[in-house]
Formats: sequence, C-alpha cells, structure tokens
Amino acid sequence: MIADSQPGHIDQIKQTNAGVVYRLIDRFGPISRIELSKRAQLAPASITKIVREMLEAHLVQETEFQEVGSRGRPAVGLILDTDAWHYLSVRIGSGEMTLALRDLSSKLVVEEGVPLPSQATEPLLTRIIGEIDRFFIRQQNKLERLTAIAITLPGIINTKKGIVHRMPFYQVEDMPLGAELERRTGLPVYIQHDICAWTIAESLFGASRGADDVIQVVIDHNVGAGVITGGRLLHNSRSSLVEIGHTQVDPYGRQCYCGNHGCLETVASIGSMLELAEQRLHASPHSTLQHQPLTVESLCDAALAGDQLAKDIITGVGNSIGRILAMMVNLFNPQKILIGSPLNRAAEVFYPVITACIRQQALPDYSAEIDVEPTQFLNVGTMPGAALVKDAMYSGELLVKLLQG
Ligand SMILES: [Zn+2]
Repeated sequence: MIADSQPGHIDQIKQTNAGVVYRLIDRFGPISRIELSKRAQLAPASITKIVREMLEAHLVQETEFQEVGSRGRPAVGLILDTDAWHYLSVRIGSGEMTLALRDLSSKLVVEEGVPLPSQATEPLLTRIIGEIDRFFIRQQNKLERLTAIAITLPGIINTKKGIVHRMPFYQVEDMPLGAELERRTGLPVYIQHDICAWTIAESLFGASRGADDVIQVVIDHNVGAGVITGGRLLHNSRSSLVEIGHTQVDPYGRQCYCGNHGCLETVASIGSMLELAEQRLHASPHSTLQHQPLTVESLCDAALAGDQLAKDIITGVGNSIGRILAMMVNLFNPQKILIGSPLNRAAEVFYPVITACIRQQALPDYSAEIDVEPTQFLNVGTMPGAALVKDAMYSGELLVKLLQG
C-alpha cells in the first residue's frame, strides 16, 4: 500500500515545497537563496533546484540587492516575475458580470462590467461562456500568457468539481461551469463562493492579514460567512461557505431559494431589509425616510441621524446576526470578526448591537477580547477571484502546472 501511494506523496511534497518557496519570495523578496533555505527549512540543494525551475519558467527573476546589515558587495536576491502572466478573474452577481485581466502580482490590467439579466431565453452557462469569449476578443491586444480562470459567485457550489448546484437571482440546476470552461480553454478553473473568496482576499491582502482565526460575515444581497481557522479556510476543498444565511430563524417565514423557509437570508439580506422598511413606513408618518428614495444608503443615513424606524430595522438585523455570531464564537473562538456589508455605513448603530449580543450570549473567555471590524474591500470587483489564484500559487497547485508548462 505504501509503495502504491508513494509517487503521489512525493508529488504532493514537491508541490507544497514549491508553494512555500514562492510565497516566501513574494513576501520577503528580494531574498537570497541562503535566507530562503533558512525560512523554508529546506536544504540548500532543494532550494537551488526549485529556484532553477522557477527561473526557467520565468516565474521568478534575480536581482542585486544590499542585504540588511551588510556593507559588502550587493547580494543576488530573488523576486517574483509577474508581468508576463495574466489570468481572468470573473465575478457574477445580481444581474451583472464583472470580468478582469490581472497579472500574477494581482495588479489589475483591465476590468469591465457587463449586464447578465436574471431572465433570458438562453441558459446561463451559454451566456457566461459567450461573455468570456467576447471579453477575450475585445482585450486581445492586452493579453499576455493566460494561466487560469477564477470565478466567484453566490450560490450552492461544489468547488472541487466546479459545479454550481443553485444560485440566487438565476435559474440554475447543477451547472457544470468548471468542467465546461476547462474543456473550452484548456486552463485550470477555480470556482468559489464569493463570500469565501472574499474571506481569502481579506486574509491575504486586507483587514485580517496575519490573523489565524477569523469569522467574516457578509450581509448583502445574500448572507453568509467565511471562517478561517488555524490559518486555513474552513472546508477549503469542498463547498467552503458557512451557511449561516440558510439557518432557519423563523419556521413560518418566507420561502428561500434553497428550498427552506424563514432562513436568516430572508430576514437579513439587504433586499429583505428594505422590503420590511417599506412595509413599516406606512405606519411611521414621521420617519425622515418618507421624503426620499428608500435605499440602503438612505436607511443608514437616517439611522445615524436618529430616525427611529431606520434604527429599529438595523438593530433588528444586528440582533439576528449577533445571535448567530455568538454561537459561532463559541465554536471557533476567533481573534477577529469582520463585517462586510453596505450596512457598515451605519457601523455606529449596527456594530454595538452585534457586539452586545456576542458579549451577552457567548462564553466570556471567548468574547471579551473580540473586535468587530469592517472588511477592507467592498463587495464589488474581482479582488476575490485574485485571492483564489494567489491561494492556488501559494499552495503550489497552480504553480506546478505553470512549472510544467
Ligand atoms: Zn435558504
């Protein structure tokens, strides 16, 4: 049995080591081979071999630099070589699709938004592929070597098989998005729920950088959470969303697209919140919201200005979210809780409600030190897809494919 599994095992070690070396060069470059060997805890001979392969593949380059504390001749250090490698990062949202080319340093080369109506005669898969084809044709002259496609979207997803089982806003049943795109382009395709990808983005580039245990809750058109525990995204290999949005909070509540009734999402999503505000406005003739269009921004501003109706709506959502977060704090004991939401505009009203719930309902040892903070990025654009590609380079998964050419 051991003999059978050994080649796979060795490939796995090679992949992991290459990923570690790539990550260290990204973080500390310019860095000498000796320093790399120390930090990666790999023999100098292994470093020499891995670095040679990366140099040949144009994934790293050499540069002269002055080592800290040294007054001698400049040393030869390694830095990443990222300009000549592009990937496509796609985000699918409510009625819209954003497509971007980025280089391997995650830098944006070009980004475009195109409408993707929820109702259409053609199946969604055909429409997504059509938009990607047309984007490549439009951007032909900007295109360098393509390495991968990353797609982030809301819904119930099998990330390993690239199957989108269901989505909000669109009629979808078991859409084989990953396999179909791989077949057509020959590129590796990474698909992830947008909230999880955003959680990875915050941990690589944003507000939770350096923290090993994080809960990131997103309250937007949909509601969900990503959990990082011990420095890794929870359930990374499968559907990695923590489905708090589909936790039942009202057994007699409205039906949700997941098939259940009274999910948190049917109460706390921005759409549901605005609907509730609309209904309650009939009984609140003095609310300042009577005299302006009802949007999440006007709701937040009214709450900040002391409007009772607006404060009640936001406090209600804060209590629903806070109750579930208190349970999650007892399960995961995070260092940090991040909130990604347009409601962050009214953080002064919203955060104290969430914090109070957690302090009252979670174990004091776990909850006393917790900070509730906003995410660094907004729920737009293709940064979450960039995090998927970065993650696949750091784990070595995409890296070894590029090394093999
Ligand atoms: Zn649901």
